[in-house]
Amino acid sequence: MPREKLADAKRKQLERKAAVRRRQIAGSLEGWNASAFEHALDQFDAAARRLKLTENQIAMIKLPRRTTEVLLPVRMDDGTIRNFRAFRVQHNTVRGPAKGGIRFHQDVTVDEIKALAFWMTYKCAVVGIPMGGAKGGIIVDPRTLSSGERERLSRRYMAEMIDLFGPDSDVPGPDVNTGPQVMGWMLDTYVMHKRGFMPGVITGKPMELGGSAGRQSATSRGLICCVREAAARLGLKLEGATAAIQGFGNVGSHAAKFLAQSGVRIVAISDVEGAFRQTAGIDVDAAIAHVARRGSLSGFKGAAPMRRVSQLLELPVDILVPAALENQITTQNAPRVRARIVAEGANGPTTPAADEILAARGTFVIPDILCNAGGVTVSYLEWVQNRMGYYWPEQRVNEDLQRIMEAAFDDVYTTMLRRRVSMRIAAFMVAISRVTEASEMRGLYA
Ligand code: NAD
Repeated sequence: MPREKLADAKRKQLERKAAVRRRQIAGSLEGWNASAFEHALDQFDAAARRLKLTENQIAMIKLPRRTTEVLLPVRMDDGTIRNFRAFRVQHNTVRGPAKGGIRFHQDVTVDEIKALAFWMTYKCAVVGIPMGGAKGGIIVDPRTLSSGERERLSRRYMAEMIDLFGPDSDVPGPDVNTGPQVMGWMLDTYVMHKRGFMPGVITGKPMELGGSAGRQSATSRGLICCVREAAARLGLKLEGATAAIQGFGNVGSHAAKFLAQSGVRIVAISDVEGAFRQTAGIDVDAAIAHVARRGSLSGFKGAAPMRRVSQLLELPVDILVPAALENQITTQNAPRVRARIVAEGANGPTTPAADEILAARGTFVIPDILCNAGGVTVSYLEWVQNRMGYYWPEQRVNEDLQRIMEAAFDDVYTTMLRRRVSMRIAAFMVAISRVTEASEMRGLYA
């Protein structure tokens, strides 16, 4: 078969497989097709009501300020040209330049990117870093691209969106299916256009290009910090506790590693290819090595494959870490979630209705905008180092991260107790107050 036909057949096969997998995972779950953005706005409304925000205050901070959509033509290895739809949403920049990752995924929608940008605004505010919210995405299954195609797509994205980006305006970073290499290509494209080395335009870069020590594991380091704080308040000893982790990419695999280092037994892990369970505890380093070799958990021999991957969310564990995508815990499965602590590594893994079920069942949910804020916190520290041109050792970065996360957890926990709300609403109340205050201080131009 000619090469281009093979590539096409492979792409179609992967797309079919992904569709089947999505159906298996989602089942008939509500929320899969529901708009993540609607969920985000519901969360905003719940917190805004309790803060008694005025209509004018809400008008200034609730909705995204700018949505950009472009079509990216890319020359494929076989000489054909394919167009990819791509987005950048800037939600709010009242507290500083917009900040948010770029996602490569076949299911990206503009609504999803709006939700993710919205969460970035409040994530930055909840940890008190001086940045606003944004997010970007390209509709593509990157597994169907060669490295060269991925590079051309990444560069074209930066070139098409270049006027939006800048160290003082909008600073992208990595997200699902993007990492240091994609950031390196995008930085190079930016500096080739702007004619000056400005590493502060993008974060999550390779260390050699001004990336920060500790950035790769920062999200999970922040997550484990929140889990420790929560466990201490709930009287749960981490030594000997159990955990299940959905998603085994950057966030999930590092979270598994840090939890295991704290004495937690990792009894189940999963990725888009399947789920694996081992009651005696999974050797996390072996699973990470397997993924490094094979690209996914598929074929992992260190644990038994689970027949129904979504069952992972329902296992009787102390700690559940959803670290994949949005809308995974819904009204369908929330009544069967048995974890004591749900630590949201992913953005938006729990629908608002499911959240209420978890709250009624007494599950302690560490909400995404707090729980996974370690990533943006170290991205901010990377941006600070880029602007100084002076780089800190990892220990310094980790210490700052821990201090910021502990303070944020404490702000949210105290608000939860004082206002008798869930941790999620408390996190939004803390964050929305900060954004509102900044917005009021700036006033309305013109
Ligand atoms: P990644 O691409 O490195 O990993 C994603 C993982 O999820 C992969 O293992 C993939 O196979 C798996 N996955 C995808 N769909 C799945 C499904 N339906 N069921 C089970 N597993 C599935 O991405 P990441 O950077 O680890 O991001 C994961 C989540 O964390 C996303 O929601 C992202 O927005 C959020 N997040 C990431 C960061 C960061 O610094 N990387 C920061 C904050 C939040």
